[in-house]
Amino acid sequence: MINITAENEEYVICDLVARIFDETLCQRKNKRQFKEACKIEGRRLYDATVLVRLNYTQLEPNNPGSISYYKKNDTFFVTYTVADYFKDLLERPDWESIGKKKHIAVTEERRVLLKCDQCGREWSGIVRSGKPVSERLLSCPQGCNTPSNESAKIQEVNSYDV
Ligand SMILES: [Zn+2]
Repeated sequence: MINITAENEEYVICDLVARIFDETLCQRKNKRQFKEACKIEGRRLYDATVLVRLNYTQLEPNNPGSISYYKKNDTFFVTYTVADYFKDLLERPDWESIGKKKHIAVTEERRVLLKCDQCGREWSGIVRSGKPVSERLLSCPQGCNTPSNESAKIQEVNSYDV
């Protein structure tokens, strides 16, 4: 494990976050997975708590964006400003965890095809990027997974998840 010192701190944090961001894009993962990977890798490699917030802004195509951070009680609060054309990819729903929670398998993205784990019924719908997925779309037409009262929140908190 490499220790983070005052000398290497800036390099270590920026390198970590930028590298994981590239991997996130390559692997078509989303924002939640990016933030999670930063936490896990920060802990694993440097024994540090690294919390990242993404900002979107208009940038020229080759501009890699900018990273800033501050440190408080051994936690690094990082703000990564990236080009807004990444937003569609990064803000799209996390189908894996939604599927687990709602007990459905999602077989296709954007034009989504859903299948109920319980009755096997299939249905489909459209998902707009950056918008929360509606409960109605996720509910089996046969009512197998309809929640009782709980209004399940599939909205990501758009800030540090401390
Ligand atoms: Zn069903």
